[in-house]
Amino acid sequence: MKSEDLFNESKNYLPGGVDSPVRAFKPHPFFVEKGKGSKLWDVDGNIYTDYCLGYGPLILGHAPENIIGSVYEQIQKGTTYGAPTEKEIELAKMVINKVPCAEMVRFVNSGTEATMSAIRLARGFTGKTKIIKFEGSYHGAHDYVLVKSGSGAASLPDSLGVPEDTTKNTLSIPFNDVDALSALIELEGEEIAAVIIEPVMANIGCIEPQKGYLEFLRKITEENNIVLIFDEVITGFRLSEGGAQEYYGIVPDLVTMGKIIGGGFPMGALAGKKEIMEFIAPCGSVYQAGTFNGNPVSVTAGLNTLKILDKKFYSGLNEKGHSLRDGIRDVLEDNGYNLNLVGLASMFQIYFTGNEVKNYNDAKTSDVEKFAIYFQELMKNGVFIPPSQFECCFLSQSHSLEDIENTINGIELSLKKAMRI
Ligand code: PLP
Repeated sequence: MKSEDLFNESKNYLPGGVDSPVRAFKPHPFFVEKGKGSKLWDVDGNIYTDYCLGYGPLILGHAPENIIGSVYEQIQKGTTYGAPTEKEIELAKMVINKVPCAEMVRFVNSGTEATMSAIRLARGFTGKTKIIKFEGSYHGAHDYVLVKSGSGAASLPDSLGVPEDTTKNTLSIPFNDVDALSALIELEGEEIAAVIIEPVMANIGCIEPQKGYLEFLRKITEENNIVLIFDEVITGFRLSEGGAQEYYGIVPDLVTMGKIIGGGFPMGALAGKKEIMEFIAPCGSVYQAGTFNGNPVSVTAGLNTLKILDKKFYSGLNEKGHSLRDGIRDVLEDNGYNLNLVGLASMFQIYFTGNEVKNYNDAKTSDVEKFAIYFQELMKNGVFIPPSQFECCFLSQSHSLEDIENTINGIELSLKKAMRI
């Protein structure tokens, strides 16, 4: 078992043996040899159909030829310049054309940087300090948002090392709860700079907004001079060309993006209304900077990825999502499993609970032990999904109908094992 040996060695040099906590699962993660299309190869010669897809960025699958070709060409001309390039304008224009709220863009290096900068910008613009987030949402690993956080942080207490002086300004409420939102804004609205929301809660599984919820959020933020930030690090270029804001028809003031926008390379972005974006330095006085911001490698990969993502692309990809969810639904019904299949477009998850899942507390009623067995059994059946109940699974363009059929069979076999106990 090369993976096991590598993990044991790795633990001596990398905290917990990994570079990001969600990658560590029991008894040990597999170490990757390579990825191509919908498949991952590990160092022990196992092959998996991949529905983790790097936690979302790989909408074209692993190592797409045209993206690699364009990046290779760019690398030969340099990897970072500390000076602007025309490609940054091209990518900004493309984002502005696709994403409804985007009138200007700042490229950064990760989703974490995007949300941190968007919150600072909202504070600078409004002159107010507090922010609202939702229980179980994940907006990256910076201090402003590590409060009742989702993703890897969902299984841990709130992080040490985050000053109370910072988090006292981060107010956390349940998702999909109109009363909680209006009560909080009534009480503290004059001090609230921003509401930051994952329009689909994808870091606690996959929870859609209930009908009318985003509309209500848009209205109440507008009425109270609060900047509405859609964190579309996952949903951006995933749900549609224009992300969740196009999908649900609600236009926020600012949007944060990451993952897909970098075409498989590290990149994030914040975008939004010009009157707000012009507060960013050097145009305005909200400081945001980065050595690798808008670097030509990530920009090239992003540009060539976004060029592919048109309406036809999404109808094909979403069709695959439907087929997979239909197949899973049949498995659940045929076997009489009282589990909760969720998902939309090319996103999906099975909650190991019979309860309806509208928010973090509902998601937490899931049987994580059964999920852990399901996850392990899926790997034995050649399917890799994120190892936690509180993550979302993704499809890519490179997943074939044969992949989907095999996956449905693998899910059925794995559920049989998981549901036996
Ligand atoms: N926001 C959301 C919704 C995310 O899902 C993530 C990461 O998963 C982030 C922000 C942070 O992005 P990154 O990991 O690129 O810093």
